[in-house]
Amino acid sequence: MITTAPHRSITACRSCGAGPLETLMAFGQSPLADRLTVPGGSDPEYRAPLTLCHCPACSLCQLRETVEPDILFHSAYPYFSSVSPALVAHFTDSAQCLIDSFSQASDVFVVEAASNDGTMLAPFQAAGHRVLGIDPAAAPVAEARRKGIPTDQVFFTAGHARHIRDRHGPADLFIANNVLAHVADVNDFVAGIAILLKDQGCAVIEVPSLMALVDDCAFDTIYHQHLLYLSLTALAPLFSRHGLVLTDAEKVWVHGGSFRLRIARHGAPSARLLDLMAEEARRDMGTRAFFDPFLQRIRTLCDETRAAVTDLANQGMRIAAYGAAAKGTTLLHMLDLPAGALRHVYDKSPWKAGKAMPGSGLVIRPASELSRDDVDAVLLLAWNFADEILSENRRFLEAGGQFLIPVPKLRHVRRPTP
Ligand SMILES: [Zn+2]
Repeated sequence: MITTAPHRSITACRSCGAGPLETLMAFGQSPLADRLTVPGGSDPEYRAPLTLCHCPACSLCQLRETVEPDILFHSAYPYFSSVSPALVAHFTDSAQCLIDSFSQASDVFVVEAASNDGTMLAPFQAAGHRVLGIDPAAAPVAEARRKGIPTDQVFFTAGHARHIRDRHGPADLFIANNVLAHVADVNDFVAGIAILLKDQGCAVIEVPSLMALVDDCAFDTIYHQHLLYLSLTALAPLFSRHGLVLTDAEKVWVHGGSFRLRIARHGAPSARLLDLMAEEARRDMGTRAFFDPFLQRIRTLCDETRAAVTDLANQGMRIAAYGAAAKGTTLLHMLDLPAGALRHVYDKSPWKAGKAMPGSGLVIRPASELSRDDVDAVLLLAWNFADEILSENRRFLEAGGQFLIPVPKLRHVRRPTP
């Protein structure tokens, strides 16, 4: 049963409040990307309109629709930061640099929004600092508390920032990784940072980069959870509205390309921040001229991929997909392949096997079955892990199988050359 998810549509910019927003691309009624379904089950399959817009006034790229968070962030399996070794290493390194910067200070108070299972806070606590995590998801919060990391099970808001300040005092350091882009009331979140920080405190925030998304044509990372697509051009006025200054930005690899930002009450922009902002200005970031080639590339990529799948099917090949992650839902929705074009989808997560992807209804099979199944070709939805997945499936390739990798540019991968 397909049900429209409860949502509201904004008419003014989520940051500066100006309107109207300019539509960049309407994705239609798109399935909620993370909600796997149970084949034959009675749970409704939620869909909601998905419309990418930008604000002509402050340049913020954003979704027009906000889906009810209780429905959107419902998840049948909990997500733990500590499951990805590469991410753990990234956040541990980042924590160590920050710990080094506080080596002369005493009684340092560190607060992290979206702290998950406490992976990032643990090194601060081990270094003797006071820490507090904030996260709305029950299972990761329980895991953080089990590890001895105090964690409030709430969304971070200005109201909760006041509560923390009253209870624990102001923070020397506020951390928020990969959460700002999910926040519907972004002014309230940034106001919370301003309330919480000491006069000499700083916030270190990681956000996915809009420029990286556009350069990789990673349009499949546009889905309902990601309300904001961030540039430095749009972020600087957001922070300054709340009496904060963006003082530094550094490119990091996480989530296909992100910025690690530093925000404080005082300070001048770093040289590398000025360079990155100059690069955005040079590329007309946030204007229609910046987006038009990207939008055309999405259409071309979808047309070419659809034609390639159809061509393989016409040759009698049995085709499956690989990677039942959220981005695969958007990609399959945009490809709009004929029913039956793909047989099922493989995924490495044991939690997902036996469930089905929303929208396409493709049933998820364990990735280990690929070389044993009667499949000739695989459409790789998890294109960001292409190298890893190709090397894990050499046997499939050596047996004559082939991969279609749609993003950033459609390519076929066949038997490896010796
Ligand atoms: Zn705006």
